[in-house]
Amino acid sequence: MPDSTPLRLLIIGAHPDDAEGRCGGLMTIYRQAGHVVKWISVTNGDAGHHLISGPELAKIRDQESASATAVIGAEYEIWDAHDGQLEPTLEMRWQVIRAIRTFKPDLVLTHRNCDYHPDHRAVAQLVQDASFSVTVPAIVPDTPALSKDPVVAYMADTFTRPTPLRADICMNVDDYRDTINEMFSCHVSQAFEWLPFNRGVADTVPAEEEERNKWLLESFMPHLYGDVADAFRKELIANYGEDIGKDVKFAEVYEISEYACPLDDEKRERFFWFLPD
Ligand SMILES: [Zn+2]
Repeated sequence: MPDSTPLRLLIIGAHPDDAEGRCGGLMTIYRQAGHVVKWISVTNGDAGHHLISGPELAKIRDQESASATAVIGAEYEIWDAHDGQLEPTLEMRWQVIRAIRTFKPDLVLTHRNCDYHPDHRAVAQLVQDASFSVTVPAIVPDTPALSKDPVVAYMADTFTRPTPLRADICMNVDDYRDTINEMFSCHVSQAFEWLPFNRGVADTVPAEEEERNKWLLESFMPHLYGDVADAFRKELIANYGEDIGKDVKFAEVYEISEYACPLDDEKRERFFWFLPD
């Protein structure tokens, strides 16, 4: 009998839009199959804007996160570390250990520790430091230890130094791009304000909502999911065949961490049942 227990997916990111910006397809597929999806943002995102900051921005980002996760019925939790100031301290490691032990995920997604953003690198370090430790009862004894590590996977980036991401899992998520776009569009302060401002394209964002969402899908999301598709085109073609693989517009790629539970064949089939053989 195949195991019908719902899977538990936990995304540990640095900022409140990291999950929707990097793994919206997998989140959607899991929710549609009745699995449990939650993301944690270790910082409250209070530096992610050019006009507002501090508690006012943190509150806005919390409201945006509620809207984004409601699109697919995911859970979220925002911690109170300041955006841009995260350090992989021992206290923060304990908090990550408690969170993993409490949620009991089958699969954890997080950042790699070669990444442009210091908060992303800090989260990567925290999750790596929590791996194995989650199974050690004498570490953080106030929260019962797990009997084994979850599988940990790194969300895609296109950085190459010191090493590019290894495409252990390579997904065409074109069928989910409208949902991904709808989720990301809820992060208004990011999708339509801060990120376009930071990239010097704020004047190209339409004012009207429908036009704005179309702009997001066609002009901005390609920088998130499209760049991944282009960087891993060879792997997409290997997985989906030339005809489909060459035309994939939105992709998600994951590397399995060697510091936690390996992804054996049984887990691969159970966690990624929707992939071609
Ligand atoms: Zn981020």
